[in-house]
Amino acid sequence: MSVLKESSLYEESLKPLREASAILNLESNVVEAIANPERVLIVSIPVKMDNGKVKTFTGYRVQHNTARGPAKGGIRYHPSVCLDEVKSLAFWMSIKNAVVGIPYGGGKGGITCNPKEMSQNELERLTRGYAAAIAKFVGPDIDIPAPDVGTNAQIMGWFADEYYKITGKYEPGIITSKPLSIGGSVGREPATGRGGFFVTIEAAKTFDIPLKGARVSIQGYGNVAQPIAQYLYEIGCKIVAVSDSVGGAYNPDGMHPLKLAEHKEKTRSVKGFPGSKEISTTDPLTIDCDILVPAALENQITKENADKIKAKLMVELANGPTTPEADKILQEKGVIVLPDVLASAGGVTVSYFEWVQNRMGYYWTEEEVDDKLKRVMTTAFKEVYQTAKQYCLDTSFRVHTKAHQLNLRTATYILAVKRIYEAMKALGRI
Ligand code: GLU
Repeated sequence: MSVLKESSLYEESLKPLREASAILNLESNVVEAIANPERVLIVSIPVKMDNGKVKTFTGYRVQHNTARGPAKGGIRYHPSVCLDEVKSLAFWMSIKNAVVGIPYGGGKGGITCNPKEMSQNELERLTRGYAAAIAKFVGPDIDIPAPDVGTNAQIMGWFADEYYKITGKYEPGIITSKPLSIGGSVGREPATGRGGFFVTIEAAKTFDIPLKGARVSIQGYGNVAQPIAQYLYEIGCKIVAVSDSVGGAYNPDGMHPLKLAEHKEKTRSVKGFPGSKEISTTDPLTIDCDILVPAALENQITKENADKIKAKLMVELANGPTTPEADKILQEKGVIVLPDVLASAGGVTVSYFEWVQNRMGYYWTEEEVDDKLKRVMTTAFKEVYQTAKQYCLDTSFRVHTKAHQLNLRTATYILAVKRIYEAMKALGRI
């Protein structure tokens, strides 16, 4: 089988694109031009491990679409990374960047590895090997990586350093979410959660969902989820369930987000949090709550468990947590879904701010970053909502009485696909 053969995840991830394209009456050859990744890199990275033996890792970088700007998106270190997954993730970045209107195309990278079982030295050698392998194909005007699952600011620092050594130039705009000391932006760390919080506020206002006292359940209590838990807690929500790859914690009276984070820091899991009942990694998805935040990996909400979801509002902070079949079930049930490509766009938006600051050599305050992020996320939500109304995704579209007739994912894709289409047209690529 060819490594480039599309398998299920990528084909599945294209379904909302095909749906939006049909509503926009795009011809199938144009849809193919938008769907296909422009460039796919597969690299072998031999790494000297601490035991003296060489281990060869496989790395990927997919530049999905660069009509609106350089490719932009994170790098994932995880045992399940494969080409099919990276292609889907790169495609979602093209959509995400278009929805929030930042001047980027979409890209994503990854290495099949288990960073939890590697030492810092091994991770550094792996990252430098990966940076060297793809250095010719990335750059501040070509493709700008960032963190994703399993990677962090330190890894960005090593990547930047390797790139500087190869090119002989100090160009901090090569990568984002760097440590502050080497050109990172204030506000980048909590940005995905912060952005998700801003769209949650807008959605709550639009659909009359009370937030005070709302019960929140979160799958994947990591870097992305912890900040949104804190922001929601500060406005009176109750964090009733959380989980991570080890296990979960449930307390209907609510748990303190910072204390949960401290417990996880100490014990490597939220499992066993004092006063909580132990639950599984997937239990937060189906537990009784008002707001569900899937913030782990893709394909968590499927046709098997979608019907058991009790939340009124779902804020997707993971990339691709819901399969298309599950999406239809949720829509029929009347769950309002803030789709991943909108709800999780806060991270890449502040990555964009970081890149702008790097290129100006002039840095903003935390208030400036936060204010700009709020504006971008709020505008994106309003534009998605307007698009939903404009295209009357259901002819009997009545938001307040029949929330289930509203599919914000399709609206988000319509908005993004239009923007990508216009850019490809203006460049004469289609
Ligand atoms: N990995 C993040 C995402 O999926 C951030 C990407 C970036 O900052 O470029 O949106």
